[in-house]
Amino acid sequence: FSRWEAMLEEIIKSIAADVFQQNDWGEPAQYIPELAAVDPQQFAISVCLADGKVISAGSPTKPFSIQSISKVFALVAALGRVGNQLWSRVGREPSGTSFDSVVLLERENGRPRNPFINAGAIVTTDALLCGRQPKLALAEILGLVRQMSGSDSIYINDAVAASEQKTGSRNKALAYYLKSHENLSNEPDLTLGTYFHQCAIEMTTEQLAMAGRSLAGLDGAPKVISQKHVRRVNALMMTCGHYNGSGDFAFRVGLPGKSGVGGGLLIIAPNVASVAIWSPGLNHYGNSYAGTRAAEMLSRATNWSVF
Ligand code: GLU
Repeated sequence: FSRWEAMLEEIIKSIAADVFQQNDWGEPAQYIPELAAVDPQQFAISVCLADGKVISAGSPTKPFSIQSISKVFALVAALGRVGNQLWSRVGREPSGTSFDSVVLLERENGRPRNPFINAGAIVTTDALLCGRQPKLALAEILGLVRQMSGSDSIYINDAVAASEQKTGSRNKALAYYLKSHENLSNEPDLTLGTYFHQCAIEMTTEQLAMAGRSLAGLDGAPKVISQKHVRRVNALMMTCGHYNGSGDFAFRVGLPGKSGVGGGLLIIAPNVASVAIWSPGLNHYGNSYAGTRAAEMLSRATNWSVF
């Protein structure tokens, strides 16, 4: 360990201590019963540095539901498969609306604002599915996630997928609305099934921080995405990664990030580090409450910011 790494370890430990001391956790996502049952008083943080070393605190080997963070991996896979054609079906603007909002879709003729709100992620998954069996598209996403993190022990939690399938009326409405605008090329139920399962991938913060190496341009990262696409994915994470809380996250943290309703966060400090944080209680935007605070403390203590 270098002196800097020892300092960073202290910083991370003190962030974890602060989170447990505050005892202020928010509430887990209520609309997916399997997630609502998760104990909110949990926290993990892992930071992967430029040389590939990972420093963690809390419970970094505990798998959690990555939910919308899977949208980053699906986007990487879809860009690899269909390239820039994707942008004819989904935009690149922040929506300023909640993650599952339907309102802009009608105004904008069924073209979702960006690939990270649910409507845009459903279109991205649909592009990746492109007439194949859902299990093939899922194998592609899971294979990519395992390759990016360098870990084979990453799985889909079928109970979480089934739980969302049962209660996901809003996502079903979005998919059928997209279909009515001819912006869905597979049967809605096939695209949705794929989407619900990709959201139900479970990872630990250690695995997720490792998976972010390719987007952060760190040593040892597998070459799964071109430099041009890395910049674009990071730009979208910065502008759209936290739904209607994206501006607030950029203001407080200053780094590209993607949240999920499972309470996970993937944060990219380009050329410096890839950070994964998890705490299942959410703030009113649907982003991790303690996780966002921890990210803010980390960027302040390290001076990591793209600005
Ligand atoms: N599976 C979740 C949904 O579609 C993902 C949302 C999120 O993580 O923000 O509602």
